[in-house]
Amino acid sequence: MDISRIREEFPILGRRLYGRPLVYLDNTATSETPREVVDAVVNGYTVTKANVHRGVHTLSQEATLLQEEARRRVAAFINASSHEEVVFTRGTTEALNLVASSLGGMLLGEGDELILTVMEHHANIVPWQLLQALKGFRLRVVPMHEDGSLDLDAYRSMFNDRTRLVSCCHASNVLGTVNPVKEMIAEAHAHGVPFVVDGAQAVPHMKVDVIDLDADFYAFSAHKMYGPTGVGVLYGKREWLEKMPPYQGGGEMIESVSFDKTTFAELPFKFEAGTPDFIGISALSKAIDFIERIGIDNIAAHEHELLRHTTERLLREVPGIRIFGQAPGKCAIISFLVGNEHHYDMGMLLDKLGIAVRTGHHCAQPLMRSLGIEGTVRASFAAYNTIEEADAFVEGVKRVSAMLE
Ligand code: PLP
Repeated sequence: MDISRIREEFPILGRRLYGRPLVYLDNTATSETPREVVDAVVNGYTVTKANVHRGVHTLSQEATLLQEEARRRVAAFINASSHEEVVFTRGTTEALNLVASSLGGMLLGEGDELILTVMEHHANIVPWQLLQALKGFRLRVVPMHEDGSLDLDAYRSMFNDRTRLVSCCHASNVLGTVNPVKEMIAEAHAHGVPFVVDGAQAVPHMKVDVIDLDADFYAFSAHKMYGPTGVGVLYGKREWLEKMPPYQGGGEMIESVSFDKTTFAELPFKFEAGTPDFIGISALSKAIDFIERIGIDNIAAHEHELLRHTTERLLREVPGIRIFGQAPGKCAIISFLVGNEHHYDMGMLLDKLGIAVRTGHHCAQPLMRSLGIEGTVRASFAAYNTIEEADAFVEGVKRVSAMLE
């Protein structure tokens, strides 16, 4: 991988903050965007902008073609059987709300059980709780071991004749743990239970094949995978999507409307009410081009090397550091605290050194509670990060820790 050539594709990485080069290590929250994705957005506004699926005129047909090509591109990227199983949403959050409301509304009733895990992002907790308030089912929460790996024995023991659904992250946005979702899905299917995967932190960092996983649903966000903001994907198996009721009503999701009876459009349009972010969607194609040109396996190997190098240095050189999440095979996310130093102080002072990290609970308050902490400092890597940046980060943590001691 020629990192300096990759970096040239990201104009923002040339920024300086407080007289120092930007070291961007907040990739879990959102990744930066290469020029070809930005160009696709500009092209969408300056050359092809017209609403999709509505016009006989040339611009509308061009815009529609770009959107539908992107759907096929996404389907091939995650190895879906058909582009009709790819629903565009605003992000992972909306994709999970869609599943919770539509599938959950259909499957979960009084006395039923839904299995989640202790390491879920709020986006995979709160939509279920909103439904729970209406339906009165029970949440079962899979605990984890000290290293941040899920307790799979506990998971297996949770299934009973009231279990209706499992929803779990593929990779944790705090611990970096990569959950064995293929095995977990097989277990759920052995009990006749469908499985929803929150793939927000997996798709940018590893090969995802929804057929190999046998996932019933798989959700992810474009902005975390070098793509535009405002676009997400919900993959769903056709047999489920066909049975599920629409999530939102409006234009584009209908076949015919009258005040007596409305019928719904075919897949995937039944789940795409209103005007989609068709410009963002077409730009997502270019983000996939970017990933595939480098190769997702090369990206993963590079990020793992950054993770190994940084973790080793932090543990060796920063007295009092605690890293949360050390499961084997974890992805390139380092959540940590140093002694009694507050995560906000560390984050603010690192910023003054040009180093962007995230601080706080990372939208995972139940996980923080189970760890007995309020928040962490989180550094996370992407394809364009370098060993020099990792070293600048370690030196920054050492310097800030010495100041805060
Ligand atoms: N799930 C996980 C594991 C995440 O890390 C995030 C965002 O950080 C989300 C869901 C929500 O993604 P979005 O805000 O793009 O909808």
